Amino acid sequence: MKIQKRIAVLMAALCIFVTFYPPLMVKAESPVIVMIDPGHGGSNMGGQFNTLDEKNLTMVTALAMKEELEKYEGVTVYMTRYSDADVSLEQRAQAAANVKADYLISLHYNMSAEHNLYGAEVWIPSVGTEYAKGYALGNLMLDEFDTYGLFRRGVKTKVSSKGKDYYGVIRASSERGIPAVIVEHCHLDNPVDKPIYNSIENLQKFGKSDATAVAKYFGLRSDKLGVDYSGYPKQQTSVPTVAILQDMTPPERAVVTVTYNRRKEDGTLGMLIEGNDRESGIFYYSYSLDGGVSWSALYALPYGTKSVTVECKPADNIVDKRIKVRLYNGYDGMTESAPVSYT
Ligand SMILES: [Zn+2]
Repeated sequence: MKIQKRIAVLMAALCIFVTFYPPLMVKAESPVIVMIDPGHGGSNMGGQFNTLDEKNLTMVTALAMKEELEKYEGVTVYMTRYSDADVSLEQRAQAAANVKADYLISLHYNMSAEHNLYGAEVWIPSVGTEYAKGYALGNLMLDEFDTYGLFRRGVKTKVSSKGKDYYGVIRASSERGIPAVIVEHCHLDNPVDKPIYNSIENLQKFGKSDATAVAKYFGLRSDKLGVDYSGYPKQQTSVPTVAILQDMTPPERAVVTVTYNRRKEDGTLGMLIEGNDRESGIFYYSYSLDGGVSWSALYALPYGTKSVTVECKPADNIVDKRIKVRLYNGYDGMTESAPVSYT
């Protein structure tokens, strides 16, 4: 075939191609851009418990999240750091702004001063569309953690005394028009959460869960995974024009009543614990059987619950036979009850 004829055939083929396959000529829809932020790094270790450094755990989870999220179509994933480097909160937010990210997701592991708290929470921007977006994504993230049996500490805001978002990465992202959330996956220093995070596989599992929540939020689909989340329902909330503040007061009410004194046959004692917190609800309770000298671990109250009946077995050698209870709200504010004697 002469060269001209080959060109003519090629041109004809191209013409048919252009005529009959117009969809291929349409510019693809722009992908969702997600910036994953492995919390801390470099000289900033984050929480430290036993031999664990939070900065390393967040990296394991972030890499797993990226790998999982990239199995979906129509998404581009970046990370604020790819190595054990110092990156400021401003730099993290700016990295998201530079790639016009649709979301910045900052990954963390928690600890508490008294080592008594456990469970997962998501911190979100306090105002505007960023709040509404955070509310929807945060709840999807906690929904994933529910399947692990993790205690749900909620989707929350925290505002500084200056009236701005307390957490720097959220504040710096909002200033750049980027919604950001901080995911506190669980508490490193509590035995209740330990079996949930305590292996590389579990840290990676958290990353996969985070990716699934993000995929549901953006309605992504994946041929590789055989899932399609287009139209996946999200929790809607109105867009606040003024900041949603945190609960700054402890529970209004904490009362304990003895329902029955120590039984002769087995030494058990019954009590009814009641409380109330209008703003953020009662999350945990603990009790003392010796007038407040020693305390039980924290036990969870199912969300929205205001009372619980408890059976316990006081030791025989207790001198001060008085019960006290402590109730904790969604922001860990605590109220202690008046003591009640038992026999
Ligand atoms: Zn952290």
